[in-house]
Amino acid sequence: MSKSNQKFEKKQLKVYLDHASATPIASLVSVNMMKFSKENFANPSAIHNSGIKVKKILEEIRREVAEFLGAHSNEVIFTSGATESNNLAILGIINKNTQYILPHIVTTNIEHASVLEVCKYLEKTKKAEVTYIEVEKNGIVDSKKIRKALKINTVLVSVMYANNEIGTIQPIREIAKAIRHYKKISVKDSPSRNYPIFHTDATQAINYLPINVERLGIDLLSFNSGKIYGPKGVGALYIRRNTLIQKIIFGGDQEFVFRPGTENVVNILGFKEALALIEKIKNKESVRLTKLRDYFFKELQKVSKTIFNNKFIINGSLKNRLPNNINITIPKIPSDLLVIELSSRGIETSSRSACKIGDSKASHVIKAINKNIKETDGSLRFSLGRNTTKKDVIYTIQNLSELLKKLKKWYD
Ligand code: PMP
Repeated sequence: MSKSNQKFEKKQLKVYLDHASATPIASLVSVNMMKFSKENFANPSAIHNSGIKVKKILEEIRREVAEFLGAHSNEVIFTSGATESNNLAILGIINKNTQYILPHIVTTNIEHASVLEVCKYLEKTKKAEVTYIEVEKNGIVDSKKIRKALKINTVLVSVMYANNEIGTIQPIREIAKAIRHYKKISVKDSPSRNYPIFHTDATQAINYLPINVERLGIDLLSFNSGKIYGPKGVGALYIRRNTLIQKIIFGGDQEFVFRPGTENVVNILGFKEALALIEKIKNKESVRLTKLRDYFFKELQKVSKTIFNNKFIINGSLKNRLPNNINITIPKIPSDLLVIELSSRGIETSSRSACKIGDSKASHVIKAINKNIKETDGSLRFSLGRNTTKKDVIYTIQNLSELLKKLKKWYD
C-alpha cells in the first residue's frame, strides 16, 4: 500500500447517515431483550403457567405502548412493521365497508409505497376510487385541498405524519379538524357518521414529534420499531375504538382477532423499551439534531456556491421538517453514483426510500415537488441519528466537496 493510501485508510471514518431507513438497536434495548428471551419463550396463547406469564407481560407491554400514544390498551395491535400496519389500515377499512359500492380514499402523492401500492391495487381491482392530492412545492399538503376532496362515499383519508424522503411534516391536526367539521355538516346527507376514517403513517415521526392520538385527532396510526432504535420486524397499528375495520390475515384469535399469528413477544418487548427511551430523550435530541442539521445545511450551501454555482436544490420545507432530515438534488449527477462514491469513503446515505431500491427512476416524492426534475438529476438524503456528531458532518462535507469537484468535470 502506498504512503498516501495508508494515510487515507487511517483517516477514514464510518459515518452512518441513513437513520430514516434503519436505526441501530439501542444497547439497553438489546440487553433487556436478551434477558427476557432466555426465560420467556412460551406461547402467550398457551394456558399453562409459562404461557400465562408471557401473556401477562404482553398485556402490560400493550398498556405501556398505549400510554405512549395516549390510547387505551385494546386499541393497540402488534404487527410485523409499518408496511403491514398500513395494509391493515387501508384494506381493513375498505373490506369492512358495506355502505358504498365504490368507496373513496383520499391520500397524497408522496405517501410511502406501502400506502400508494395498496391504493393502486384497490383502484385496479375496482374496489375503491382514490384521489391523490398533490402536495405543494414545499412538500406539504394543503389541508383545504384534502377537505375539498371529501365526498359522500369517502371512507378513508390517509396522510403520512412525516415524509420518509424529504422529512416534511404534514398538518395532521388541521386535517383531522377538517374531517371532523365535514362529518358534522354532512351528517344529514350521509347514512353514517363513521366515515371518513383518518389514518396516518407515523413511522418517521415517532422519534421527534408529539404522538398523542387524541390531540392529533386520528383514528388509525401506523408505526414500527426498526426506525426507533428497537428491533426490526415489529410494528403496531393504533385502531380507535369502534372503528369499522376487518382483519386481512386469517388464522387464530390473537391481537383481538385483528392480527392472527403468534405474537413475537421478545421483539414487542424491545419495541416498548425503544419507545420508553424516546420519551426520555425526545426533546433534547430534537434540539440537538435541529442544530446539527442546520449547520449541515449551511455547509452544504457553501459547497453549492463554491462548486455548483448555487445549483443545489433543497428538497422540502426547511421549517416544517424532521430535525434529522436533509434532502438535496444535485443536477446532472446520478443519485446512485453519489451514494456509492460516498459509501466508498465510509459515508452511508441514500437516494430514495430503501423500499424502492432497484427502481432507477427519480423518486416519486422528488418528482412530486419539482416538476422540472430530470431522471439524471441525483438526489441525496442524509438522515442523522443519535450517534451523529459535528465531526461526522464535517467529514461528510469535506468528502462530498472533493467528490463533486471530481465528478463535476465529467458532467459539465
Ligand atoms: N412508512 C414509512 C413512512 C416508512 O419510512 C417505512 C419504512 N421505509 C414504512 C412505512 C415501512 O416500514 P416497515 O419496513 O416496518 O414495513
